[in-house]
This record gives sequence, structure tokens and C-alpha cells, in this order.
Amino acid sequence: MLVVKDLVKTFPVRSGFGFSGPVQTVKALDGISFEVARGEALGLVGESGCGKSTSARTVLRLTEPDGGAALIDGADLFQATGPDLRRLRRRLQIVFQDPYASLNPRRRIGDTLAEPMKVHGIGTPKEWPGRVRELLAEVGLPAEAVHKYPHEFSGGQRQRIGIARALSVGPELLFLDEPVSALDVSVQAQVLVLLNRLKQTRNLASVFISHDLGVVRYFCQRVAVMYLGRIVETAPAEDLLDTPLHPYTQALRAATPTPDPNHKVTMARLTGDPASPLNPPSGCHFNPRCPHVMERCRVEVPALQEVAPGRKVACHLMDGA
Ligand code: SF4
Repeated sequence: MLVVKDLVKTFPVRSGFGFSGPVQTVKALDGISFEVARGEALGLVGESGCGKSTSARTVLRLTEPDGGAALIDGADLFQATGPDLRRLRRRLQIVFQDPYASLNPRRRIGDTLAEPMKVHGIGTPKEWPGRVRELLAEVGLPAEAVHKYPHEFSGGQRQRIGIARALSVGPELLFLDEPVSALDVSVQAQVLVLLNRLKQTRNLASVFISHDLGVVRYFCQRVAVMYLGRIVETAPAEDLLDTPLHPYTQALRAATPTPDPNHKVTMARLTGDPASPLNPPSGCHFNPRCPHVMERCRVEVPALQEVAPGRKVACHLMDGA
């Protein structure tokens, strides 16, 4: 239902001591493309700063794109204005990592959950209280929560409220931006179970943004791996995690703990930090950290090419593979 094509996002930044230097441009997203089918969960993974969250914010136009298209059943969200834009936006919602920061501390939960329905003209004022109670029950919170404020809830409960708010307008796709990484491990599992149930009962599509491959394996059917603003590998979740092909995915996988004591890590571990997005390496951005780097990797950008059905990799090693 969602097709993102050649998405580009740049940010101006002022460098130098006291930010007095010249304005430079950071290319946070360098032409990324992905698709999500109805009811499908796509994982978007990579290290901090690779552009995962920017992808979500740009598709939703929380920040304006510099290029590309985001098609919802063929209608381009980036070209839409006025009521058309509002209608398309309603179909995509986001759940943020930090539920406390994303909830208004001075607003009761009942008002927080009714607000999106008011904005999008869903139902009538008479219907909103009943709808709010249904949403609370759906995410496992008691009806009394309507009268309370965000500080009266635990982190996990606040994330449930964030999920209920996203659901309040009946979306078809959720961007889940590190939805459990701020929570304790035991609470993470409960919220993941809830999200999985909602995925099935509502046939919700999702883009699950995470740096945790274990969580992604549990939740997603397909995974796209990002590195410095580009997608470097995309594949069905099991294939990507069991037999990663891109050297960066292999290193990410090797860095992920496994519960199997017999599992031996045979792949190279990730060394060094990602290059600065202000001054990314030419050619393949991963080349300074890659154990297989070749001369052409420093000059030629590898294309994201299909190497098997449903599987794409951007690496010169794949040429002729
Ligand atoms: Fe490594 Fe070259 Fe492949 Fe980049 S293109 S991942 S540097 S082998």
C-alpha cells in the first residue's frame, strides 16, 4: 500500500567553533526506496544517524522532502495539499520512541486520544468518549485512564497510550520509531505482543524502525538495512538474518547476541564509527570499515540490485554472484 521512491532529504548545518563556519549540507537520505504491502511489517535497521527516523518523518511530511515520492495506493503524499493531504496523512500514523516526550503533560489522556478524531473530523463529539474507552481497552488500559495525566503512568503504559493515539484515526500503516527501546526488557515484550496482536486484528502494515535485530526478527516479515542514508540490503527477515549478504549486514548480525550457546560468530565484527554524514566517503559509504574493500569501492557507488527473488544488495561483491 505504501511505495517510497528515491526519497531524498538534506539538512543545512553550520559547522565550526560556535557554529560560525559556512553552511554545509548533510544528505540524510540519499535516494532510498522501499515498499510495504497491506498487513506487512517492514523492519528498517541500522546504526544511529543512518537515516531511519528521518525516513519516517520525511514520508509523513513532519519534515519536508527534497525529492522523491511517497505513494499510498498510487496517490502521491508529497504532491497532495489541503483536504487530500489530510486524508492521506490519516492513513499513516507514527508511534515515537519516547512516549513521555510525545504526550502533552498538561492534557488528560481522554483529551489526548480524542484530539486526532477532532482534527480529522472522525465521529461526533457525542461518540468520542465511547471511542476513547474502546481504544484504551484495545491497548490494555482501564477506562479510568481518561481522567489521568501522562505522569501518572509507567513507561510501558505511556507507550500504550501513544499507540492508542496513533490508532484513534483508523490508520492502515504505522511507523513504529524504536517503540520499545526506551522500555525495560520485560515491558518491551508486553508492548511487542500488543503490537503483534494489533497487526493481526487490524491487518495493520508497519515500518518498524530499530537497531535491535532480535526484535526485528520477532516482528517483521521483511527487513531493509540502512547505512549513511542509503539502503544497502533488503530481504525477507529470516534470509537476511540467517544469511546476510552485505558486509555491513554481516557485521551487524555478528554484533547481535544469540541465545544459542553453539552459535559461532564467523563473520567480521563491526569496527570503527560510521563516517560523518557531513563528509561521507565516496563510492560505497561503507568502504572505510569494510573487510572486503576493493579499489572500485572507493569511486563507484554500488547499485541496489536484485540477487534473488525478493532480495536486493548494494555491494560490488555481488557482481556476477
Ligand atoms: Fe565492501 Fe565494496 Fe561491498 Fe562496499 S561495495 S560493502 S566496500 S565490498
